[in-house]
Amino acid sequence: MLRFKVVEEAFDRKAMPVEIPVERPEEYYGKYVFNRQKMFEYLPKKTYDALVNAIDNKEPLPREVADSVAAGMKRWAIDNGARHYTHWFHPLTDGTAEKHDAFIEHDGKGGVVEEFSGKLLVQQEPDASSFPNGGIRNTFEARGYSAWDISSPAFIMDKTLCIPTIFISYTGESLDYKTPLLRALNSVDRAAADVARYFDPNVKHVFSYLGWEQEYFLVDEALYSARPDLVLTGRTLMGHESAKNQQLEDHYFGAIPSRVEAFMLDLEIECHKLGIPAKTRHNEVAPNQFELAPIFEETNLANDHNLLLMSLISEVARRHNFRVLLHEKPFAGINGSGKHNNWSLGTDTGVLLFAPGKTPQTNLQFITFIVNVMAAVHKHNALLKASIMSATNAHRLGANEAPPAIISIFLGSQLSELLDTLEKSTHDELINLSGKEGLKLDVSQIPEIMVDNTDRNRTSPFAFTGNRFEFRAVGSSANCASAMIALNAAVAEQLMDFKSKVDARIARGEDLYHSLLEEIKSLISQSKSIHFDGNGYSDEWKEEAARRGLDCETSTPKIFDAYLSKASVEMFKKAGVFSEIELEARNEVKWEMYTKKIQIEARVLGDLAINHVIPVATRYQSILLDNVFKIKSLFDADKCDKISSQDLSTIEKISDHITVIREEVAKMVSGRKVANKLDDEREKAIAYHDNVVPCMDVIRYHIDKLELMVDDEMWPLPKYRELLFIR
Ligand code: ADP
Ligand code: MG
Repeated sequence: MLRFKVVEEAFDRKAMPVEIPVERPEEYYGKYVFNRQKMFEYLPKKTYDALVNAIDNKEPLPREVADSVAAGMKRWAIDNGARHYTHWFHPLTDGTAEKHDAFIEHDGKGGVVEEFSGKLLVQQEPDASSFPNGGIRNTFEARGYSAWDISSPAFIMDKTLCIPTIFISYTGESLDYKTPLLRALNSVDRAAADVARYFDPNVKHVFSYLGWEQEYFLVDEALYSARPDLVLTGRTLMGHESAKNQQLEDHYFGAIPSRVEAFMLDLEIECHKLGIPAKTRHNEVAPNQFELAPIFEETNLANDHNLLLMSLISEVARRHNFRVLLHEKPFAGINGSGKHNNWSLGTDTGVLLFAPGKTPQTNLQFITFIVNVMAAVHKHNALLKASIMSATNAHRLGANEAPPAIISIFLGSQLSELLDTLEKSTHDELINLSGKEGLKLDVSQIPEIMVDNTDRNRTSPFAFTGNRFEFRAVGSSANCASAMIALNAAVAEQLMDFKSKVDARIARGEDLYHSLLEEIKSLISQSKSIHFDGNGYSDEWKEEAARRGLDCETSTPKIFDAYLSKASVEMFKKAGVFSEIELEARNEVKWEMYTKKIQIEARVLGDLAINHVIPVATRYQSILLDNVFKIKSLFDADKCDKISSQDLSTIEKISDHITVIREEVAKMVSGRKVANKLDDEREKAIAYHDNVVPCMDVIRYHIDKLELMVDDEMWPLPKYRELLFIR
């Protein structure tokens, strides 16, 4: 039987040998990245200076320079074994897209030469009509343009030179994640630098930093292949809990199995060659669940690196006969996977704006930025939730293990007390606080105290963790850009608003510190309902959050509506990130993706239920029936009843489960048919959410019951206890 064969294959597997470079990491780190060192080596001095200048000052690259850059880049790529090049971009599906072209061109003499021009480097026109665009491009205008993002270095993967690019329509609307991310980062740079200059006039730029923590599951390849649900949907649509799963808490930080350790080492080496600063690795809470975290980087680069990691991890896993599951909830009953986004802002003068300082002035700056983040998250809490929502992350949010489906901020007791004091201070007290030396409140001990004060119970979706915020609601398979666009743009808008209010006070003759403190005070009282340090999983919090007016919507398709609210449209416009047309188009894509994902899952589940599970259950049932008949023929009625009563009860239960499964599959199919007739993408997604998803839950429940009854020898699919424990 296939199941036993694959289980045996999986359990027999040994750790694969890893090719460890003889050099130390500092020697091979960034080997496949066209970084400044390679630029310097391969480009003429004048070209190098022009390129670095364009990158540092966010200026366009002059055309003649592009030709010279392309020539140098091609030489470097060929020296490193590349044969093809591609524009690498981030379409609105998950993951990345690329179309490979060989460097070759005709030489006019019947042969070829390897060529790569500035034109090909800077811009391409991928035949992109099949990428989601939310109706922005008519098919006769199916052109999309990809254009080089010079702020992110080119790299070589699989012998292909990859050029990070943005992807826009013929009419200039963004069709990707990178374009709006770059716009949001520019916006927060300008707005935050303006505010930071109240404290230090030398600040020119503010950078947004992102440190992601990627969680994932590993499953042996043989077992994976025997589960059509994993292959087609990335998660198990059925499977009874294993008797042992995470209740002993023995996996978290436990010893890493040798097969997995070999895989991790291999992955880290590959990461380092591609300039991804992978640093931390460990087991996660659930069996077979692991995490990888790099050192944080500037947000655009960090996001490129996360996307690259998501391709790389699958590739390396296959070398070790594993499959990686990046799905948010591959297994019911145990923890799902997220991707915590550690986020901060820092000046080009080297100050982290969310880190408490040592002087009263830097502490006032710290409070200023913290309070503005609070205000932005408060105002746009519904949008931030929408930014992390998806059909797959919906399994995680609101369940009892992951962030709740309500956005709130955890601040810790120290910071909470400080904000309370500020809020309650009278006019005179504030003037006192903001005397000549700036803020007198002694907050300089905050860093030490905060270390053990930060949120360790992990119930907060957005937590202050000492010098950064940790947005924990992001899903493991998501493009972090979605969350980073919303967050950075919302904070940019808030900082612009703050600055204009402070400036207005100063114009009326008020003192700077006093103006700042008054505005801080008003932001604290305005936005304090977003602050919650308690248990985010509790039912009391759900009620309390609703009373506070926070967004409590739980239906994924309706959560997306937040992108089109008046506040969101205005904010994105003010921050220069999205036009209303772009927002509408992108929501169409979100609804469509939601529908498609549920549609695929429903089809796979229907197929497995009818063609795999019911036939096996029926066969087992008929074995039991056969047994009952045989007992009847051998024993007298009295004895017979006694012996066969258990069998009869099981036979009946199996019948009951099969009946419900058949009914629910029929209901699910008709739910789909009705939904498919709807033209409006939003209505369709809502119909799938309301009428298809609930059937899937019922079907699964009954299949899982059957799994416990039917003879283990007959059950066709690998069970949780086999999938979840790597030897
Ligand atoms: P945790 O204890 O939360 O699991 P980890 O050490 O696993 O922490 O990961 C923390 C992540 O946060 C790392 O990627 C780290 O580089 C990143 N990080 C640390 N400081 C900052 C910061 N100021 N801004 C953004 N990310 C940061
Ligand atoms: Mg963390």
